[in-house]
Amino acid sequence: MSPDEFRNNGRRVVDWIAQYWERIETLPVLSQVSPGQVRASLPAHPPQSGSGRSLDTMMAELDELVMPGITHWQHPGFLAYFPANASGPSILGDLLSSGLGVQGMLWATSPACTELEQVVLDWLVELLGLPAAFRNDGPGGGVIQDSSSGANFVALQAALHSVTNGTSITEGVSGAHIVYASSQTHSSVEKAARMAGLGSRALRVVDVDPVTLAMLPAHLAELIRADQAAALIPTMVAATIGTTSTTAIDPVAEIGAICRQSGVWLHIDAAFAGVAAVSPDLRWINDGVADFADSYCTDAHKWLLTNFDATAFWVRDRRHLTGALSILPEYLRNEASDSGAVVDYRDWQIELGRRFRALKLWMVICWYGADGLRAHIQGHVAQAQELASWVRADDRFDVVAPHPLSLVCLRPLWPGWGDEEADRLTMSVIDSLNGSGECYLTHTKVAGRTVVRVAIGAPTTTRGHVARVWELIRAEVSARS
Ligand code: PLP
Repeated sequence: MSPDEFRNNGRRVVDWIAQYWERIETLPVLSQVSPGQVRASLPAHPPQSGSGRSLDTMMAELDELVMPGITHWQHPGFLAYFPANASGPSILGDLLSSGLGVQGMLWATSPACTELEQVVLDWLVELLGLPAAFRNDGPGGGVIQDSSSGANFVALQAALHSVTNGTSITEGVSGAHIVYASSQTHSSVEKAARMAGLGSRALRVVDVDPVTLAMLPAHLAELIRADQAAALIPTMVAATIGTTSTTAIDPVAEIGAICRQSGVWLHIDAAFAGVAAVSPDLRWINDGVADFADSYCTDAHKWLLTNFDATAFWVRDRRHLTGALSILPEYLRNEASDSGAVVDYRDWQIELGRRFRALKLWMVICWYGADGLRAHIQGHVAQAQELASWVRADDRFDVVAPHPLSLVCLRPLWPGWGDEEADRLTMSVIDSLNGSGECYLTHTKVAGRTVVRVAIGAPTTTRGHVARVWELIRAEVSARS
């Protein structure tokens, strides 16, 4: 494709995306295809000659064959899982990154790729009110990871390095290292323990408060004491700010004091919720982080208008991270790295290669500014709080967990039905709404009971959309009562 062909075709693709956004609300939010349908519709063999395939043909195939299999995450009725925000500035930043085609594994392979990343992560420290210790101009620092799962894994690597004084990299780890997480912690923490070779048995599940679903520090202390008495090595506590199921917030200050006393690494997984701190009235979610967190991650790719993938990850002391992950083969040696004056981000992540992801985050922060990002978060939080008030005002429903942010978990009460049948009815409400094409909701279990998660966060969702979904939920429940 010549530059001129790229220019013309590129304009058409950008037009297609803009038109997609304009018509997104007319599409069924959840793809209705059956398993194998998209695959069966596509040619089984690749084209032998590329010359005959114009962009017209490819775009027609995109529309006819691929689009039916798309679930529209940017649809205002997308209220499932957690959001995966896209935005114009972010896409343009990503496009520039692709256009430059930079691979920023080393500072020397494109100095701006590393240094812009350091700057935007320092900006985020300021925007989110995170501790200055996370800034790149001290012993700590920040880096963009591909996902919170990846961040949780590298945090564990740093924790192992810290707790073993570096012998984890030469001697490996024995089964004696223990990781602590609550029953509400994201599964990626257990996956990290498995990937580190510790096995799922290294995971201690800390109890949670039955009402707030937040980790109970007293139980954590008890588990650590028991492991120490058994000559095991308490290594990392993964505390969550905004659990996946209900956005419960673990008491970081109390947990941190226990970690400090026991020499355990404290990692904070704030994947979804951390970015909410851009709003000063929500900064309390990070209470305790400044004093105690050794590492912290939050996803700009969930709720901060930045396309997947963009996990912001910080450490208080980068030596443990780079100590755990740095290996220097001869073919990567260069003068800048040898001088010690630069950061090579390949030493901060699993992969060697890395895209220029800072560009999209830079574009997002510059386009929206602190005010625009705050308005985005605050709008969704206000919508969720209003939804919760409507649910509470209807005696056929319960709000089942604290909802400090933009996720509301609710349960129809189904008077007269047993638990099992009531849960089945709740699932049937969700299935029926998802089949309608107007919205997409998912469920979770709270205290053993099936509940509806309404996760607000798509950039296009307005109060009107939330009101409509509440009306639909009530209608479905009425039809079954
Ligand atoms: N941690 C928490 C608390 C999450 O809610 C999630 C996903 O929802 C993850 C980790 C995994 O995020 P990612 O998809 O970035 O790996």
